[in-house]
Amino acid sequence: MTDWPELEHEYFMNVVERLPLTIVRGKGARVWDEAGKEYLDFVGGWAVNSLGHCHPVVTKAITEQAQLLIHTSNQFYTVPQIRLARLLVENSCLDKVFFGNSGAEANEAAIKLARRYGQLNLDGAYEIITTLGSFHGRTLAMVAATGQEKFQKSFPPLPTGFVNVKYNSIGAIKSATTKRTCAVMIEPVQGEGGVNLPDDSYLAEVRAWCDQKGILLILDEIQTGIGRMGTLFAYEQYGVEPDIMTLAKGLGSGVAIGAILAKKKAAVFAPGEHGSTFGGNPLACAAGYATLKFIIDNDISGKVKTVGQYLSQGLEKLKPKFPFITEVRGRGLLVAMEFKSDIAPSLVTACLEGGLLVNQLKPNAIRFMPPLIIGNGEVDEALGILDSVLSAK
Ligand SMILES: *Cc1c(COP(=O)(O)O)cnc(C)c1O
Repeated sequence: MTDWPELEHEYFMNVVERLPLTIVRGKGARVWDEAGKEYLDFVGGWAVNSLGHCHPVVTKAITEQAQLLIHTSNQFYTVPQIRLARLLVENSCLDKVFFGNSGAEANEAAIKLARRYGQLNLDGAYEIITTLGSFHGRTLAMVAATGQEKFQKSFPPLPTGFVNVKYNSIGAIKSATTKRTCAVMIEPVQGEGGVNLPDDSYLAEVRAWCDQKGILLILDEIQTGIGRMGTLFAYEQYGVEPDIMTLAKGLGSGVAIGAILAKKKAAVFAPGEHGSTFGGNPLACAAGYATLKFIIDNDISGKVKTVGQYLSQGLEKLKPKFPFITEVRGRGLLVAMEFKSDIAPSLVTACLEGGLLVNQLKPNAIRFMPPLIIGNGEVDEALGILDSVLSAK
């Protein structure tokens, strides 16, 4: 067999610490390596494989679209783009859509839109308030938006116009708001930063503050959206409506797509002010449409709520047996387990050997983001592997 890791080390820029597994095939919530060993996938491509691997409705949609039309320039109308935009609008509180290719790109578009809004309506206000511990992507502007030093420190100077304030503190947002502020951008639940849930009232307070000041509320639902939290969008659970929302990860079941959605009043781009060569191409939109339609028609969000509770309860039950587990937190199928010490790296490797993929969230925490289509049986299986791995600690 080819030594793929060795070949990669020769040719590839190493930006991610790889785990010792080369995945060659996937089906549902499972993946296989070259030797045919099976793994239960509770990473889900970092919350991307919403319908699992190679779901028949997605594979069919991509295959059919690939035989019909893969790409045109965005000067022309294409059917999948319009169908997906309509489906998103009809199932959210937003009115207009634009497609890009990734989360960071969607957030960049949101920032441009908010600045343009500030230019038109807020006397040139351009500053965006974001939160510490957030994650908004890897482009330079999104690194500046992301309130984490580890992502920022290697790349000065960073673009200006971002203020990072304490998360889950309405007071911090209020004190950072000036006449230069045009928007607040937050993740309803911080994903990459730790699966940090805000107080129930936080988002409503931010919404009220934005209304009072006439500034925009941007919700980055790139990780929390598309059913992951047990509702189609996380904002539904907090009783707020954003002016702008960004989506990506779970939208295309693995085909690269990002989306920015805006209320009518915030959809201020004029022709020529924004664009994308690949964004909204027929192939990606066909994948997005098939994914979203399946999730809506089969109430996958409702099922996520139930199976997510089952997962969280199962993880909670491990606590008395393993007192070094300090916390289980999350909602739906975005759940973290935290430990007293930095055991996550060895735990992730041991789970891998046991046939379970989990994500290291921090040195002392792991994260579960399985496909949204898993059932209690798969949860039991994952809990069983985790239990035996923790027993060996
Ligand atoms: C993953 C993520 C991004 C960045 O998405 P990319 O597709 O990697 O650019 C932005 N915001 C949140 C909340 C994310 O989880």
